[in-house]
Amino acid sequence: MKNIGLYLHIPFCRSKCPYCDFYSVKADASVREQYATALKKRIKAEMDDLDCKADTLYIGGGTPSVLGAEKLSEIVNSATPYLASDAEITVECNPYALSADFFKTLAFSGVNRISMGLQSANDAERRSLGRLSDSETVKNAVLDAQNAGITNISLDVMLGIPRQTEKTLANTLDFCVSLGVPHISAYILKLEEGTVFYRKQNSLALPDDDAAADLYLQTCETLERNGITQYEISNFGKHGFESRHNIKYWNCDEYLGIGPAAHSFINGKRFYFERDLNAFYGGAKPVPDGSGGDFTEYAMLRLRLAEGLLHSETEKRFGHKIPDEMIKKSAFFADKGFMELDGNGIRLTRKGFLLSNSILAEIL
Ligand code: SF4
Repeated sequence: MKNIGLYLHIPFCRSKCPYCDFYSVKADASVREQYATALKKRIKAEMDDLDCKADTLYIGGGTPSVLGAEKLSEIVNSATPYLASDAEITVECNPYALSADFFKTLAFSGVNRISMGLQSANDAERRSLGRLSDSETVKNAVLDAQNAGITNISLDVMLGIPRQTEKTLANTLDFCVSLGVPHISAYILKLEEGTVFYRKQNSLALPDDDAAADLYLQTCETLERNGITQYEISNFGKHGFESRHNIKYWNCDEYLGIGPAAHSFINGKRFYFERDLNAFYGGAKPVPDGSGGDFTEYAMLRLRLAEGLLHSETEKRFGHKIPDEMIKKSAFFADKGFMELDGNGIRLTRKGFLLSNSILAEIL
Protein backbone atom coordinates (compact mmCIF):
# COMPACT_ATOMS: atom_id res chain seq x y z
CA MET A 1 0.00 0.00 0.00
CA LYS A 2 1.51 3.34 -1.00
CA ASN A 3 1.79 6.46 1.17
CA ILE A 4 0.47 9.86 0.08
CA GLY A 5 0.12 13.31 1.64
CA LEU A 6 -3.40 14.44 2.57
CA TYR A 7 -4.20 18.17 2.44
CA LEU A 8 -7.48 19.60 3.78
CA HIS A 9 -8.38 23.18 2.88
CA ILE A 10 -10.31 25.34 5.35
CA PRO A 11 -11.50 28.31 3.27
CA PHE A 12 -12.33 30.72 6.10
CA CYS A 13 -10.60 33.84 7.50
CA ARG A 14 -11.74 36.45 10.00
CA SER A 15 -10.71 39.20 7.58
CA LYS A 16 -8.78 39.44 4.34
CA CYS A 17 -5.10 40.35 4.52
CA PRO A 18 -4.29 43.01 1.91
CA TYR A 19 -1.65 40.91 0.09
CA CYS A 20 -3.47 37.58 -0.02
CA ASP A 21 -5.11 35.92 -3.01
CA PHE A 22 -5.81 32.51 -1.41
CA TYR A 23 -9.36 31.28 -1.55
CA SER A 24 -11.01 32.25 1.73
CA VAL A 25 -14.29 33.81 2.85
CA LYS A 26 -15.86 34.94 6.14
CA ALA A 27 -18.06 32.36 7.81
CA ASP A 28 -20.50 32.34 10.73
CA ALA A 29 -20.96 29.37 13.08
CA SER A 30 -23.58 27.65 10.90
CA VAL A 31 -21.36 27.84 7.78
CA ARG A 32 -18.40 26.48 9.74
CA GLU A 33 -20.56 23.61 10.99
CA GLN A 34 -21.86 22.86 7.51
CA TYR A 35 -18.34 22.86 6.07
CA ALA A 36 -16.87 20.58 8.75
CA THR A 37 -19.69 18.08 8.12
CA ALA A 38 -19.19 18.20 4.33
CA LEU A 39 -15.41 17.85 4.68
CA LYS A 40 -15.63 14.81 6.96
CA LYS A 41 -18.00 13.11 4.48
CA ARG A 42 -15.68 13.93 1.59
CA ILE A 43 -12.55 12.62 3.38
CA LYS A 44 -14.24 9.24 3.76
CA ALA A 45 -15.51 9.16 0.17
CA GLU A 46 -12.19 10.17 -1.42
CA MET A 47 -9.92 8.04 0.80
CA ASP A 48 -12.16 4.94 0.54
CA ASP A 49 -11.63 5.21 -3.23
CA LEU A 50 -7.83 5.09 -2.92
CA ASP A 51 -5.82 2.11 -1.77
CA CYS A 52 -3.34 4.07 0.31
CA LYS A 53 -2.45 5.57 3.67
CA ALA A 54 -1.50 9.19 4.30
CA ASP A 55 1.75 9.60 6.19
CA THR A 56 1.25 13.36 6.36
CA LEU A 57 -1.94 15.34 7.03
CA TYR A 58 -1.83 19.11 6.53
CA ILE A 59 -4.85 21.25 7.45
CA GLY A 60 -4.29 24.60 5.76
CA GLY A 61 -6.25 27.57 4.55
CA GLY A 62 -7.54 30.16 4.88
CA THR A 63 -7.28 30.00 8.64
CA PRO A 64 -8.08 26.53 10.00
CA SER A 65 -7.98 27.79 13.59
CA VAL A 66 -11.20 29.81 13.03
CA LEU A 67 -13.03 26.46 13.10
CA GLY A 68 -12.10 26.06 16.78
CA ALA A 69 -10.35 23.13 18.43
CA GLU A 70 -13.41 20.89 18.70
CA LYS A 71 -14.26 20.94 15.00
CA LEU A 72 -10.62 20.60 13.99
CA SER A 73 -10.33 17.55 16.25
CA GLU A 74 -13.43 16.01 14.67
CA ILE A 75 -11.86 16.54 11.24
CA VAL A 76 -8.55 14.99 12.35
CA ASN A 77 -10.45 12.06 13.90
CA SER A 78 -12.35 11.46 10.67
CA ALA A 79 -9.01 11.27 8.79
CA THR A 80 -7.26 9.12 11.42
CA PRO A 81 -8.35 5.71 9.99
CA TYR A 82 -6.54 6.67 6.77
CA LEU A 83 -3.34 7.86 8.44
CA ALA A 84 -0.09 5.99 9.00
CA SER A 85 0.65 5.48 12.71
CA ASP A 86 3.62 7.88 12.61
CA ALA A 87 1.89 10.53 10.45
CA GLU A 88 2.99 14.16 10.65
CA ILE A 89 -0.24 16.08 11.41
CA THR A 90 -0.01 19.86 10.89
CA VAL A 91 -2.63 22.54 11.55
CA GLU A 92 -2.15 26.13 10.35
CA CYS A 93 -3.09 28.69 12.99
CA ASN A 94 -3.54 32.40 13.13
CA PRO A 95 -2.55 33.26 16.73
CA TYR A 96 -5.50 35.62 17.16
CA ALA A 97 -7.83 34.58 20.03
CA LEU A 98 -6.33 31.14 20.73
CA SER A 99 -6.32 29.68 24.25
CA ALA A 100 -4.11 27.15 26.02
CA ASP A 101 -7.05 24.71 25.81
CA PHE A 102 -7.12 25.08 22.01
CA PHE A 103 -3.66 23.50 21.75
CA LYS A 104 -4.36 20.88 24.43
CA THR A 105 -7.43 19.70 22.50
CA LEU A 106 -5.48 19.56 19.23
CA ALA A 107 -2.62 17.65 20.86
CA PHE A 108 -5.12 15.16 22.32
CA SER A 109 -6.52 14.46 18.84
CA GLY A 110 -3.03 13.66 17.52
CA VAL A 111 -1.93 16.99 16.02
CA ASN A 112 1.87 17.07 16.33
CA ARG A 113 2.85 20.12 14.28
CA ILE A 114 1.62 23.74 14.19
CA SER A 115 2.31 26.30 11.50
CA MET A 116 1.67 29.84 12.70
CA GLY A 117 1.48 33.13 10.82
CA LEU A 118 3.93 35.50 12.53
CA GLN A 119 4.99 37.48 9.42
CA SER A 120 6.80 40.04 11.56
CA ALA A 121 7.56 40.57 15.25
CA ASN A 122 7.30 44.31 14.68
CA ASP A 123 3.72 45.31 15.50
CA ALA A 124 3.63 48.25 13.06
CA GLU A 125 4.67 45.88 10.26
CA ARG A 126 2.10 43.32 11.40
CA ARG A 127 -0.63 45.95 11.31
CA SER A 128 0.34 47.03 7.79
CA LEU A 129 -0.16 43.37 6.76
CA GLY A 130 -3.66 43.38 8.25
CA ARG A 131 -2.74 41.14 11.17
CA LEU A 132 -5.08 41.52 14.15
CA SER A 133 -2.81 40.32 16.96
CA ASP A 134 0.44 41.72 18.37
CA SER A 135 3.71 39.82 18.74
CA GLU A 136 3.05 39.18 22.45
CA THR A 137 -0.05 37.22 21.42
CA VAL A 138 2.04 35.17 18.97
CA LYS A 139 4.59 34.49 21.71
CA ASN A 140 1.88 33.32 24.13
CA ALA A 141 0.33 31.07 21.46
CA VAL A 142 3.73 29.45 20.79
CA LEU A 143 4.28 28.90 24.53
CA ASP A 144 0.77 27.43 24.90
CA ALA A 145 1.41 25.02 22.01
CA GLN A 146 4.77 24.00 23.51
CA ASN A 147 3.18 23.49 26.95
CA ALA A 148 0.54 21.28 25.32
CA GLY A 149 3.38 19.09 24.02
CA ILE A 150 3.43 20.35 20.42
CA THR A 151 7.05 21.43 20.03
CA ASN A 152 7.26 20.98 16.24
CA ILE A 153 6.26 24.55 15.41
CA SER A 154 6.83 26.55 12.24
CA LEU A 155 6.56 30.33 12.09
CA ASP A 156 5.88 32.20 8.82
CA VAL A 157 8.00 35.29 8.23
CA MET A 158 7.51 37.75 5.37
CA LEU A 159 10.36 39.54 3.64
CA GLY A 160 10.22 42.70 1.57
CA ILE A 161 7.16 44.06 3.38
CA PRO A 162 6.37 47.79 3.74
CA ARG A 163 9.06 49.72 5.66
CA GLN A 164 11.00 46.56 6.59
CA THR A 165 14.67 47.19 7.31
CA GLU A 166 17.62 44.98 8.22
CA LYS A 167 17.08 46.03 11.82
CA THR A 168 13.36 45.18 12.00
CA LEU A 169 14.02 41.86 10.27
CA ALA A 170 16.83 41.10 12.73
CA ASN A 171 14.31 41.65 15.57
CA THR A 172 11.82 39.30 13.92
CA LEU A 173 14.42 36.56 13.45
CA ASP A 174 15.69 37.00 17.06
CA PHE A 175 12.08 36.66 18.21
CA CYS A 176 11.73 33.31 16.36
CA VAL A 177 15.07 31.99 17.60
CA SER A 178 14.38 33.01 21.22
CA LEU A 179 11.13 31.01 21.18
CA GLY A 180 13.05 27.87 20.23
CA VAL A 181 10.85 26.99 17.24
CA PRO A 182 12.52 24.42 14.97
CA HIS A 183 11.12 25.59 11.60
CA ILE A 184 10.71 28.90 9.75
CA SER A 185 9.10 29.61 6.37
CA ALA A 186 10.31 32.94 4.98
CA TYR A 187 8.66 34.21 1.81
CA ILE A 188 9.43 37.38 -0.11
CA LEU A 189 6.19 39.37 -0.55
CA LYS A 190 4.73 38.89 -4.01
CA LEU A 191 2.22 41.41 -5.30
CA GLU A 192 -0.70 39.33 -6.56
CA GLU A 193 -3.11 40.87 -9.03
CA GLY A 194 -6.51 41.64 -7.55
CA THR A 195 -5.18 42.30 -4.00
CA VAL A 196 -5.22 45.60 -2.10
CA PHE A 197 -1.39 45.65 -2.06
CA TYR A 198 -1.31 45.23 -5.84
CA ARG A 199 -3.54 48.29 -6.29
CA LYS A 200 -1.64 50.39 -3.74
CA GLN A 201 1.89 49.21 -4.54
CA ASN A 202 3.19 52.70 -5.37
CA SER A 203 2.30 54.04 -1.95
CA LEU A 204 3.49 51.11 0.16
CA ALA A 205 7.16 52.05 0.77
CA LEU A 206 8.26 48.56 -0.26
CA PRO A 207 11.97 47.65 -0.22
CA ASP A 208 13.22 47.45 -3.84
CA ASP A 209 14.38 44.15 -5.39
CA ASP A 210 18.00 44.56 -4.27
CA ALA A 211 16.96 45.40 -0.71
CA ALA A 212 14.55 42.42 -0.66
CA ALA A 213 17.39 40.16 -1.89
CA ASP A 214 19.61 41.42 0.95
CA LEU A 215 16.83 40.70 3.46
CA TYR A 216 16.56 37.17 2.06
CA LEU A 217 20.31 36.56 2.40
CA GLN A 218 20.24 38.04 5.90
CA THR A 219 17.50 35.54 6.81
CA CYS A 220 19.43 32.56 5.41
CA GLU A 221 22.61 33.54 7.25
CA THR A 222 20.96 34.39 10.59
CA LEU A 223 18.94 31.20 10.72
CA GLU A 224 21.90 29.07 9.71
CA ARG A 225 24.00 30.62 12.51
CA ASN A 226 21.27 29.44 14.87
CA GLY A 227 21.14 25.86 13.61
CA ILE A 228 18.00 26.35 11.49
CA THR A 229 19.27 25.23 8.11
CA GLN A 230 17.87 26.13 4.71
CA TYR A 231 16.46 23.03 2.98
CA GLU A 232 14.28 24.76 0.36
CA ILE A 233 14.19 28.20 -1.27
CA SER A 234 11.92 29.57 1.46
CA ASN A 235 12.07 26.95 4.20
CA PHE A 236 14.46 26.41 7.09
CA GLY A 237 14.49 23.70 9.73
CA LYS A 238 16.52 22.19 12.52
CA HIS A 239 17.68 18.69 11.61
CA GLY A 240 14.70 16.31 11.60
CA PHE A 241 12.11 19.12 11.63
CA GLU A 242 11.84 19.73 7.87
CA SER A 243 8.16 19.68 6.79
CA ARG A 244 7.51 16.12 5.65
CA HIS A 245 4.28 17.19 3.97
CA ASN A 246 5.74 20.03 1.92
CA ILE A 247 8.75 17.94 0.90
CA LYS A 248 6.24 15.70 -0.91
CA TYR A 249 5.36 18.63 -3.22
CA TRP A 250 9.01 19.37 -4.02
CA ASN A 251 9.81 15.70 -4.46
CA CYS A 252 6.93 15.30 -6.91
CA ASP A 253 5.33 12.67 -4.63
CA GLU A 254 1.61 12.00 -4.52
CA TYR A 255 -0.89 13.99 -2.49
CA LEU A 256 -4.65 14.35 -2.28
CA GLY A 257 -6.17 17.78 -1.59
CA ILE A 258 -9.77 18.09 -0.40
CA GLY A 259 -11.75 21.35 -0.20
CA PRO A 260 -12.41 24.30 -2.53
CA ALA A 261 -9.15 25.33 -4.30
CA ALA A 262 -7.27 22.22 -3.10
CA HIS A 263 -4.98 20.56 -5.67
CA SER A 264 -4.03 16.89 -6.03
CA PHE A 265 -1.46 14.74 -7.80
CA ILE A 266 -2.36 11.06 -7.84
CA ASN A 267 -1.42 8.28 -10.28
CA GLY A 268 0.31 10.74 -12.64
CA LYS A 269 -2.78 12.98 -12.88
CA ARG A 270 -3.25 16.48 -11.52
CA PHE A 271 -6.73 17.74 -10.54
CA TYR A 272 -8.25 20.36 -8.27
CA PHE A 273 -11.48 21.47 -6.63
CA GLU A 274 -12.98 24.71 -7.93
CA ARG A 275 -12.76 27.82 -5.75
CA ASP A 276 -16.46 27.51 -4.96
CA LEU A 277 -17.89 26.54 -1.57
CA ASN A 278 -21.38 25.81 -2.89
CA ALA A 279 -20.03 23.54 -5.62
CA PHE A 280 -18.13 21.64 -2.91
CA TYR A 281 -21.28 21.26 -0.80
CA GLY A 282 -23.07 20.03 -3.93
CA GLY A 283 -20.54 17.20 -4.29
CA ALA A 284 -18.77 18.64 -7.36
CA LYS A 285 -16.08 16.36 -8.77
CA PRO A 286 -12.50 17.71 -8.98
CA VAL A 287 -11.49 19.33 -12.29
CA PRO A 288 -8.84 17.40 -14.31
CA ASP A 289 -5.62 19.41 -14.73
CA GLY A 290 -3.58 17.21 -17.05
CA SER A 291 -0.81 14.79 -16.31
CA GLY A 292 2.21 15.53 -14.13
CA GLY A 293 5.44 14.14 -12.82
CA ASP A 294 7.53 14.14 -16.02
CA PHE A 295 11.28 14.75 -15.81
CA THR A 296 11.05 18.52 -16.44
CA GLU A 297 8.52 19.04 -13.68
CA TYR A 298 10.45 16.77 -11.30
CA ALA A 299 13.72 18.62 -12.00
CA MET A 300 12.05 22.02 -11.55
CA LEU A 301 10.60 21.04 -8.16
CA ARG A 302 13.73 19.27 -6.92
CA LEU A 303 15.84 22.32 -7.72
CA ARG A 304 13.82 24.26 -5.15
CA LEU A 305 15.46 22.02 -2.54
CA ALA A 306 18.96 22.75 -1.20
CA GLU A 307 19.79 19.09 -1.88
CA GLY A 308 18.99 19.73 -5.55
CA LEU A 309 18.54 17.23 -8.35
CA LEU A 310 20.37 13.94 -7.79
CA HIS A 311 21.64 11.50 -10.43
CA SER A 312 20.68 8.50 -8.27
CA GLU A 313 17.04 9.54 -7.68
CA THR A 314 16.63 10.65 -11.30
CA GLU A 315 17.85 7.25 -12.47
CA LYS A 316 15.47 5.45 -10.09
CA ARG A 317 12.45 7.39 -11.42
CA PHE A 318 13.26 7.88 -15.07
CA GLY A 319 15.88 5.25 -15.90
CA HIS A 320 18.52 7.83 -16.85
CA LYS A 321 20.88 10.22 -15.09
CA ILE A 322 20.62 14.03 -15.35
CA PRO A 323 21.00 14.72 -19.11
CA ASP A 324 24.44 15.97 -20.27
CA GLU A 325 22.89 19.05 -21.88
CA MET A 326 21.48 20.11 -18.53
CA ILE A 327 24.82 19.51 -16.78
CA LYS A 328 26.55 21.66 -19.41
CA LYS A 329 24.12 24.54 -18.92
CA SER A 330 24.41 24.19 -15.14
CA ALA A 331 28.21 24.46 -15.42
CA PHE A 332 27.73 27.89 -17.01
CA PHE A 333 25.75 29.06 -13.94
CA ALA A 334 28.17 27.30 -11.57
CA ASP A 335 31.00 29.47 -12.97
CA LYS A 336 29.03 32.53 -11.93
CA GLY A 337 28.29 31.21 -8.43
CA PHE A 338 24.61 30.48 -8.99
CA MET A 339 24.83 26.67 -9.04
CA GLU A 340 26.96 23.80 -7.75
CA LEU A 341 27.75 20.53 -9.53
CA ASP A 342 29.37 17.37 -8.24
CA GLY A 343 29.19 13.62 -8.70
CA ASN A 344 25.84 13.49 -6.87
CA GLY A 345 24.00 16.02 -9.04
CA ILE A 346 23.26 19.73 -9.41
CA ARG A 347 21.83 22.35 -7.10
CA LEU A 348 21.20 26.08 -6.87
CA THR A 349 23.25 28.14 -4.43
CA ARG A 350 21.64 30.75 -2.17
CA LYS A 351 22.46 33.41 -4.75
CA GLY A 352 20.97 31.11 -7.39
CA PHE A 353 17.72 30.72 -5.41
CA LEU A 354 17.16 34.48 -5.82
CA LEU A 355 17.19 34.05 -9.61
CA SER A 356 15.70 30.56 -9.68
CA ASN A 357 12.95 31.28 -12.22
CA SER A 358 15.35 32.62 -14.87
CA ILE A 359 17.97 29.93 -14.23
CA LEU A 360 15.43 27.10 -14.37
CA ALA A 361 14.01 28.50 -17.60
CA GLU A 362 17.52 28.34 -19.09
CA ILE A 363 18.60 24.90 -17.93
CA LEU A 364 15.25 23.15 -18.47
S1 SF4 B 1 -5.00 34.81 7.23
FE1 SF4 B 1 -3.77 33.82 5.61
S2 SF4 B 1 -5.26 32.96 4.17
FE2 SF4 B 1 -6.38 34.42 5.48
S3 SF4 B 1 -6.38 36.32 4.32
FE3 SF4 B 1 -4.61 36.40 5.70
S4 SF4 B 1 -2.89 35.55 4.51
FE4 SF4 B 1 -4.79 35.00 3.43
